[in-house]
Amino acid sequence: MSGSSLLPQKLFWVDLEMTGLDPNKDCILEVAAEITDFNLKTLDSYEARIKQPKELVAERMQKNSWWQDYPENRDDFLSKTNDGKTITVVEDELLSLLKTHFGSQPAILAGNSIHNDRLFVKEYWPSLDLALHYRMLDVTTIKILFQGKFNIDYQKPNGHRAFDDIQASIAELQYYLDWFKNNQG
Ligand SMILES: [Mg+2]
Repeated sequence: MSGSSLLPQKLFWVDLEMTGLDPNKDCILEVAAEITDFNLKTLDSYEARIKQPKELVAERMQKNSWWQDYPENRDDFLSKTNDGKTITVVEDELLSLLKTHFGSQPAILAGNSIHNDRLFVKEYWPSLDLALHYRMLDVTTIKILFQGKFNIDYQKPNGHRAFDDIQASIAELQYYLDWFKNNQG
């Protein structure tokens, strides 16, 4: 990146709820996205549930045993597999959100362990993937630095619902930024 016009001005926060972590076998159940500036002020947000075949969702939930720890989420997703929008419609809506805020500039994806979400974006939303910058802002990278370097173990709620998880990721980055501000020098 050279020239101030190319410095990033906004972040594209994304959180996906999937049936599991294997992009070749698992599917996306829910997405939340939020556009913020670098003061982490919300400029826009988006949320959608995605229609998926019930048998597939049930089978993957069976295979991924951690769903047993989230019975409320499991029952909610399982009972509403036919609700929501198709994966194609959701990709179109996300692309139009990006167009509004980033124009033709690639958007920087942000979130916790965001590479996992990116794998699913690549697999299911290839056009969206192309609209994203190869650089990503992973809040988990900063978490690791704080744990190992400063002995600070920030605890964030982990509800595993897309919208709440995004708010938690943004709050976590805000915590680290406040820490830097209060500990300068
Ligand atoms: Mg999540």
